[in-house]
Order: sequence, then C-alpha cells, then structure tokens
Amino acid sequence: MIQTQLYIDGQWQSPIDNGTRDILSPADASVIAQAAEATRADARLAIAAARRAFDGPWRQTTIRERAKLLNKIAELIDRDAEKLAHLESLNTGKTLTESRTDMGDIAATFRYFAGLVASEAGAVNEAPHHVISRTLREPVGVCGLITPWNYPLLQAAWKIAPALGAGNTVVIKPSNLTPLTTHHFTQLVAELDLPPGVFNLVTGGAEVGAELAESLDVDLVSFTGGAFAGESIMKAATGNFKRIGLELGGKNPNIVFADADLDAAVDYALNAAFFHAGQVCSAGSRLMVEDSIYDAFIGRLAERLPRIVIGNGFHGETRMGPVQSAQQHEKILGMVQAGIAEGARLVHGGKRPPGDVFKQGYWLEPTLLADVTAQMKIAKEEIFGPVITAERFRSEAEALRAANDTPYGLAAAVWTRDLDKANRMSRALRFGTVWVNDYHPYFPEAPWGGYKASGIGRELARIGLDEYTELKHSYINLAPKAMGWFGA
Ligand code: NAD
Repeated sequence: MIQTQLYIDGQWQSPIDNGTRDILSPADASVIAQAAEATRADARLAIAAARRAFDGPWRQTTIRERAKLLNKIAELIDRDAEKLAHLESLNTGKTLTESRTDMGDIAATFRYFAGLVASEAGAVNEAPHHVISRTLREPVGVCGLITPWNYPLLQAAWKIAPALGAGNTVVIKPSNLTPLTTHHFTQLVAELDLPPGVFNLVTGGAEVGAELAESLDVDLVSFTGGAFAGESIMKAATGNFKRIGLELGGKNPNIVFADADLDAAVDYALNAAFFHAGQVCSAGSRLMVEDSIYDAFIGRLAERLPRIVIGNGFHGETRMGPVQSAQQHEKILGMVQAGIAEGARLVHGGKRPPGDVFKQGYWLEPTLLADVTAQMKIAKEEIFGPVITAERFRSEAEALRAANDTPYGLAAAVWTRDLDKANRMSRALRFGTVWVNDYHPYFPEAPWGGYKASGIGRELARIGLDEYTELKHSYINLAPKAMGWFGA
C-alpha cells in the first residue's frame, strides 16, 4: 500500500495530528493508498518554512541556477515518466495513454520555462546620464499553489515551473482525492540540493487551501478548480491583497457549421467531449450544430457512441475510463436527469454501463442529450463528465449569441471551411482559447486561461512566468545635487 507524507522545510513528516485519508481507485473503489491529511496547523508550518527560505538564501540564486534546476526536474520527470503515468492513471482513472501524454507535456513545461527564465533580463530605461533607471522583475515571494483532481501533476507543473523559475518559494496543495503524482514529484524535488523550505508539499482538503488563501505570509495564491472554491479564495486573498491567479471551470461550445468537413467534425466532437471522460475544464461538451445538418450529425454520433470502448485505463484498447469519484458520478447522473426533465432527448447513455466489471467504481456510459435549448440548465452549467448536450442553430448570429451567453469563457471551437467566417467567429467569441477545425491542442508557448467567470490571469506562455513576478522601477542617482526647490 502506498503511504504518503508531507514535505515541509526539507523534511518528510506526518501531519501534526497524524491524520490520514484513504485514496480510492475510481475503477473499483478499492483503497490504493493512504495519504497524509494535513490541517491548517501543518499548512502554517509549511508557509513559515517557505517564508524563511524566501527571505534567506533562495533570494541569492541566479536565473542560470534556476533554469538549470527546471531542466533537472524535466530530466527526472523523463526518468520516472512511466512510474508517474501509472500513478496518475491509478489515481484518476484516465487511460495510460493519456497519462503518458501528460508526463511528456509536464517535462516540456519545465523545459519551456527553463528557457524563458534563462532569457530574462531587466530593461534599462531612458534617463539622464547621471541616473541608472532599470525595470526589474523580482519574485513575488511565498506562493500557495492549489490544484484539482482532473490533471493533478499537469496543473501542478503549470504553476511550479514558473513559480520556482521566477525565484519564489512554494507550498503546494494537491486535491486530497489525487495526491499521488504530486507526492512522487516531491520525492524527485527532494533528490535535488534545494535549500530547506523552497518547496513544500501539504496534502489535505479545503481547510489547507483556505489557510494558503488567508495567510498574511503568503504573497500569491494560484488556484485551479471550481467556481465555488475560487470565489472563497478570491475573498480570502483580500486579507493582504495577495496576487491571485484563478483557473476555473468552463462551458465550452463546439460549433459546427453546415459547410464543415463532417467526418472530421463528428470524430472530434467525440474527442472534445469524452477525452478523460469529459473531466477537462475545456471539454467541448456543449455541441452546437447548424440546423440543416443537425439530424444527420446526431445520427452519426449515435452510431459511434456504443462503439466507444469503456474500461480500465491500463488496458490497451480502452478509450474512456471511469469518472473520478462517487460524488462526481452522482452529480453527472443528476444533471442528465435534470436535462431530461427540462425536455432534452436522451439519445445514448445516461447510466452505468452493464456488466459485472462496472458494478464497483464510478463508471458512466458516454452520453448524448439532443434537442437541448440554450435556456436549459445543462446548456449553462458545467457537467464535468462524459456528456454531450446538442443544440441546434439557424444562423451565424444565433450561434454566436448563444455561445457567448454563458458566464464562462474558457474555450470554444468552430468548424467551417469558410475562412472568413472562421475569422469572424474567432474574433467575436469571448473565450480564452478558440480553435478552428480542431479541438484541445495547447502549447507551453501559448497562454491558457479564461474570460469572465472562467478565471483571472493566464498560465503558460511568457505571461505565465510574469504572473509570478513583481515589477520594480529601480532609480539610482549617481551624482545628486541640491535642488533648491524650497529655497536655500
Ligand atoms: P475544487 O474547486 O473542488 O477543488 C480544487 C482544489 O481546491 C482542491 O485542491 C481542493 O481541495 C481545494 N479547495 C476546495 N475548496 C477550497 C476552499 N474553500 N479554499 C481553498 N481551497 C479549496 O475543484 P475540483 O473538483 O478539484 O476540480 C474540478 C474543477 O476544476 C472544474 O470546475 C474544472 O473546470 C476546473 N478546472 C479548471 C482548469 C482550468 O485550466 N481553467 C483546469 C482543470 C480544472
């Protein structure tokens, strides 16, 4: 049985009250690990250690040393990629193929930020000859990083790489449902010769996250998760006006016009919605199809859905695993029933798949609800499971209006062969990412984040590093002379 501990001030340790939590397999609800469950008191120790490290030797590191550190972490991720991918699949239920892809993306993230950090230089400003005026980027300080259960180590990497690269110290709190890969990652960090307190792991639930958000000794909190927790973190952060980054949920339209390549659009509609059983913040779960091809499109999806291989993520032929927890399972089934009650037509799924192997664990059939209207709850709220809701639209203007009529603004996709229309839609959709004739690709070089209620700030890209820095104007007068403004 895997057992995990906290990592505080360079030491592995148990929580002060020796708390533990059983970690369950989403595939069969069996106990796969026992994780340390921290409380606020442990979080305070970690914050204090991070504070001491930031105010101490860590401030003296150079950009070259920090770039080297990030490259070294990438090497260790590559070395342990197979082990990490197995842990991620075991804990989240996602297929091994998906987890292997995640590990490649995680190493790429560390390498990208290593390159960016190494290229950082302050700017020298135009000033009188006896003055040195520089714009400096400095680390923010102690960073509290809070991550969700759907992409545990990937979301952590998007925060840890820029935070350490910019010279901050870190206290990370993964979701208490999925701490295993972040724990293994911390073992990799512990192999490195970092000053104690630079990197701290505190596994636990909402109260640990709340302590990071509230603490006056934390300078920045970066959170990925749902709107409910995001709101409370934003409020808590006002205590010392700490910097905040919020990556929240989405309700992401996947808009198919009649002139699209329909073979590709049908295929990608499945990928958009059922990748990682739909537990992707940018999942294209809100399918919108132009009236003239709507019935044919639904028919083609209905043919494909029963052929999707559901199963244990460790089996090679599996394309979709279970959802992550009993709570998610129940919530998704509730949303499907609410949709049917509001008048949506259940085309496929909406239940646990048949068969003994699916009796335990949190399994769901890929689900298609057709004839959904923009007013229905299932068209407005994030479902976060393997469910496509399909709406019909009659014009470009109607599609645009309905797609933008959501509090969220994370990602959207448009399918058309008309480049002019593709460009018009890309510009008019109020979402942080808009794909045309594709779904899901993202790069470390491109910013990730949402408009409106999908969050505040961006991760990845240069801005993803800048968010972990403060800007300073340093002005040095080399030859001061009395001004006489107030007389001699
Ligand atoms: P969640 O909000 O329940 O939990 C996220 C993290 O916050 C966990 O570590 C949790 O323990 C902690 N937490 C919960 N309540 C807290 C509080 N009051 N104060 C401080 N911390 C608290 O989210 P989840 O269910 O783990 O993840 C699913 C959500 O994450 C979905 O809404 C999804 O869209 C979103 N998400 C967004 C992105 C993105 O990039 N925008 C990426 C992945 C997931």
